[in-house]
Amino acid sequence: MPIRLFDSLAREPRELQPSHPDGVYRFYNCGPTVYAPAHIGNFRTFVVNDVLRRLLELEFGPGKVKHVRNLTDVDDKTIRRSREEGRPLADVTRQWTEKFHADCAALNCLPPHVEPTATGHITEQVDMIDVLMKKGNAYRAPDGSVYFKVSSFEQYGKLSRVKERELQLGSSFAAKPQAADADEKEDVSDFALWKAHKDGDGENAWDAPWGRGRPGWHIECSAMSKKHLGDTIDLHSGGVDLLFPHHENEIAQSECCNGTPFSRHWYHSEHLLVDGKKMSKSLGNLYTLEDLKAKGFSPMALRYALLMGHPRKQLNFTLDSLHAAESALTTLRNFRATLPASGGDAAIFAPVLAALTDDLNTPGAFGALFSIVNRGNTGIDLPSFDRTLYALGLNLETPTTSKAEAPAEVTALAEKRWAAKKAKDFKGADTLRAELTATGWSMLDGKDGYKLEPVKK
Ligand SMILES: [Zn+2]
Repeated sequence: MPIRLFDSLAREPRELQPSHPDGVYRFYNCGPTVYAPAHIGNFRTFVVNDVLRRLLELEFGPGKVKHVRNLTDVDDKTIRRSREEGRPLADVTRQWTEKFHADCAALNCLPPHVEPTATGHITEQVDMIDVLMKKGNAYRAPDGSVYFKVSSFEQYGKLSRVKERELQLGSSFAAKPQAADADEKEDVSDFALWKAHKDGDGENAWDAPWGRGRPGWHIECSAMSKKHLGDTIDLHSGGVDLLFPHHENEIAQSECCNGTPFSRHWYHSEHLLVDGKKMSKSLGNLYTLEDLKAKGFSPMALRYALLMGHPRKQLNFTLDSLHAAESALTTLRNFRATLPASGGDAAIFAPVLAALTDDLNTPGAFGALFSIVNRGNTGIDLPSFDRTLYALGLNLETPTTSKAEAPAEVTALAEKRWAAKKAKDFKGADTLRAELTATGWSMLDGKDGYKLEPVKK
């Protein structure tokens, strides 16, 4: 089933096809900055990209997709964290890389085929900057920093349409008079390719022909995708927050250096809101996976909840959506337990994959999945069900933390009672509790969920 996906550059859905003669589809997505735990907004992007990766492999074959996702292990934030903690940069970034990997594994995200680091690709970044300087797209400032000359690339802004917006607003898109390097640049819209060493950088500096320093953030993705995927890649993705300036700048650097189109397709997933608001530390609504596990939720429920909304629309995350995700997983788990090992008709699940291949419509896929499950087990076997769940990355083998092993009818009763209790129908809830006890199960209520336990005899 061909995959159609919205292309942020062409501004329309396009079919994904490998373009290289070896038939390998080249897929790059921007990875995390490893200085703190990733939050659930970051994980929305990574989970959406994981579904995309799975679909690509189902479509082109497992050996026919090369997925590269970088680690930003040197920038202002990582250096600041290392100085605050008095630890070498590599110690800090190793710690948070390990945590990121553990979280990704818990969320059942497949590891990328290559996970390059910025500090491991200094030579490649220096080489690229060197080419840009020789071609007249970059210049050295008096302090030893190197800037990309935005006016040298006529197509600058083609992804974000930043110039059109600037004309509408009557202001300059990069005009930040307070920017620390404003005095060094020829033009306010120019951006750093190489940052000259400052005292605050400590030992985190490398030699380059134009002076000691460290690479800018944007050049790392251009250099690492070039090294591992070549001059023209098939798909570049990331969160919408990276569209400008990061992705716009990647296009400028790569296309000026390589003289070829950078990425044939761009894909951006939208923001995650929490309780209707932008996530922020000060609002207290910034969750990590660890925060949610502490509240008794399973990582698989988070994965499910992050896929409940269309990836190209803002998604409002609430703890209620996690409850809904847990109970959906319980339903799927119980359904799975009834399936025979063979003899089913795999075509039954085609509508689920059809939704996913139509612009990654994950809520449509869940809708199709549940309309099949709700019809009951008619001609479905375990392998075809598991193959469908694989595309969504739902691993039902990992039990939810709270509702393990209760039979379907017991879980259904428990869900009904939980709903009654939440609706403040206490009389109904009491009646349902009595019914539950009669089945041999007791329900222990918590603040954000419940546990089912066999009644002790
Ligand atoms: Zn990037």
